Amino acid sequence: MNKRRMAVLTSGGDAPGMNAAIRAATMLGLSEGWKVFGVSQGYRGLIEGKLSPLSPGDVGPILRRGGTILGSARCPEFFERSARDQARKHLKDAGIEALLVIGGNGSLAGASALCDPEEAGLDGVRVVGVPASIDNDIGFTGISIGVDTAMNTIVEACDKISDTADAHDRTFIIEVMGRESGYLAMTSAIAAGADAVLFPEADKTEEEIVDTIVRTVRRVRQRIGRTRRVMVIKAEGVAMSVGRLKDAVDERLREEPGADPNKSETRITVLGHVVRGGRPTAFDRLVASRLAHVAMRALVNGQSRKMAAWVPPVAPPSEVSVKSPFDPYCWLVELGAVLVETERLSVRTSPLVEWRTRVFDQLENVLSL
Ligand code: ADP
Repeated sequence: MNKRRMAVLTSGGDAPGMNAAIRAATMLGLSEGWKVFGVSQGYRGLIEGKLSPLSPGDVGPILRRGGTILGSARCPEFFERSARDQARKHLKDAGIEALLVIGGNGSLAGASALCDPEEAGLDGVRVVGVPASIDNDIGFTGISIGVDTAMNTIVEACDKISDTADAHDRTFIIEVMGRESGYLAMTSAIAAGADAVLFPEADKTEEEIVDTIVRTVRRVRQRIGRTRRVMVIKAEGVAMSVGRLKDAVDERLREEPGADPNKSETRITVLGHVVRGGRPTAFDRLVASRLAHVAMRALVNGQSRKMAAWVPPVAPPSEVSVKSPFDPYCWLVELGAVLVETERLSVRTSPLVEWRTRVFDQLENVLSL
């Protein structure tokens, strides 16, 4: 008898833990008696029909590897209906009825377009998503794959920088990834014991940003009998470049009464893509495996247009969400609703953004005590 067929792809920005999701999805699909295919290079591979079968041997050893064994890509053509028609044709020709998409907000928008009944018809490919994004910028999920590893990488780097900063009472500004979302900067600032955090959601002017740092330095310099190192974590999405920020802060520090010229110069570290790579933490592997499990159960049970979510911090409306019967920490939320909440996070109208911003405003004086 012909086995039923499903496929898995990873798309958009890669995130550590994607491999754990691929592995869990493959093992679950195979154990349910399905044939499972991997798509190379995200939607690009789907348009080109790059599908190959996955076996337990292919996915067994991948759990501890960062990145994604399937490869990922940005694929602007996928915004076009004609490219999605091509992708749907390849899936149909290969007899694939269900697709798991592991990726960020763009990839989930692509997933939604791929299974849109107006384009795909009612018997088109079924699609369920799993959120993967180190920025943690996807709606209705408490965490996305990759966030925990990225946070651990930042904290480890900050700990190392702290050793030298402590020794010399230096001021460091450390820039971390996060274009529209300051989540990584905020959480890492707490976990690394930073004295201040700059994130785009605060919407501060350049003058206010410089003031924040100078005020923090002043406060820390008043510490008696403890290190006077200053650590500021800045999200990349804060528009002022680290170079300009350093120049402006240094100028102000030199003007401070009694300024020590040796200690008025700020040091900069930009962590960049280091934050995206590395061996996934145990928690990322666990979250990825459990989200993929819940998403695959949904596909096997005939569902579509959903995303598996991890304990939503803002409750999704009950009409568009259901708690997974397979995992008490996981939910299944309609893809359309996820995309709406993701947009609200991005334009900062979600109550979650308001809450985070308020908390960090209140913490400004606490962090540098
Ligand atoms: P991420 O998934 O990490 O957010 P991108 O935003 O680059 O990364 O999206 C990944 C890919 O998803 C895009 O290159 C494109 O192929 C597809 N995609 C994104 N948005 C849409 C959309 N609105 N319609 C169709 N495809 C999309």
